[in-house]
Amino acid sequence: MRALVAHAAHDLRVEERQTPADPAAGEVRLRILAGGICGSDLHYYHHGGFGTVRIREPMILGHEASAVVEEVGAGVEELSVGDIVAVNPSKPCGRCEECRRGLRNECLDMVFSGSAMRFPHAQGLFRERMVVPAVQAVRAGAPADPALLALAEPFAVCLHAVKRAGSLLGATVLVSGCGPIGCLTIAAARHAGAGRIIACDVVPEPLRLAERLGADECLDVGTRPAALDACKEGKGRIDVAFDCTGHPQALATAVECLRPRGKLVAVGLGGSLDFPLPSVVTKELDVVGSFRFDDEFSLAVGLISSGAVDLSGMVTRTFPLEQAKEAFDLAGDRARAMKVQLILSQA
Ligand code: ZN
Repeated sequence: MRALVAHAAHDLRVEERQTPADPAAGEVRLRILAGGICGSDLHYYHHGGFGTVRIREPMILGHEASAVVEEVGAGVEELSVGDIVAVNPSKPCGRCEECRRGLRNECLDMVFSGSAMRFPHAQGLFRERMVVPAVQAVRAGAPADPALLALAEPFAVCLHAVKRAGSLLGATVLVSGCGPIGCLTIAAARHAGAGRIIACDVVPEPLRLAERLGADECLDVGTRPAALDACKEGKGRIDVAFDCTGHPQALATAVECLRPRGKLVAVGLGGSLDFPLPSVVTKELDVVGSFRFDDEFSLAVGLISSGAVDLSGMVTRTFPLEQAKEAFDLAGDRARAMKVQLILSQA
């Protein structure tokens, strides 16, 4: 079978790998359908990693995928051959101190597919077939488009961020950064009952999709830096701000826009930065982080497959595996692409 393997920065190869053996008890063999290219895949491709995380051995990329169940191991009752599933890339140990506290997204021994954080690296999902524990294959409740189902992972990230925000019922919400995570946060906040959603970005193209996914107001702060001034009136007018940029300027602006006792949810992973602490103190702001997801993954699968949340329009274009380089180049262009996916095998 074929797999997409990163060897180093700008060294991406489609390689022949051994087809996995039959699934053992409690496992299933999947044939992967669609695989979404995420920001971290792009970092491995362009820079060989991010921060201190580096590719130190060949690694199959990918952690967003849908699949069809090809074979079930003994004792697996919740899945049948032919089921369409979303693949949960997250495998917490279930035994460590953090898992036992219920914080499985903070597991001390996490195996997260397509991540070079641990060594040997956790091999990813951009391959034709793989065997996983049955619990990592989450069945769609209704016949679902494999492309939309492959959005379950990033959507779960955003549902988790919304959960970290607390109740959004009737709230005025700001979402900074309208890439895939920003747009999916808008969809999640809309579903959670936000009253008014204001979206901003420094490039105009992604804002069109932000509007389609539920933003009431879409502001291009690249060409109109004063567009958010109305949100800063008084001591600020925003109840909850989601930062999906990790950028110092965007964070400072969000803090300025938050009303007293407002909440900043940091989703974007930036570097260390100067932070406007005085405003946090004097406006009594809550600042929370949000990292990955836990049981929001099955929630995401349910919302997508039932049609309760319509994410159509998110997938810009799909490419066959042999055109992976073109796919990665397009995925890195924010003006032309939202989510780009690889077709690992046909549905
Ligand atoms: Zn653990």
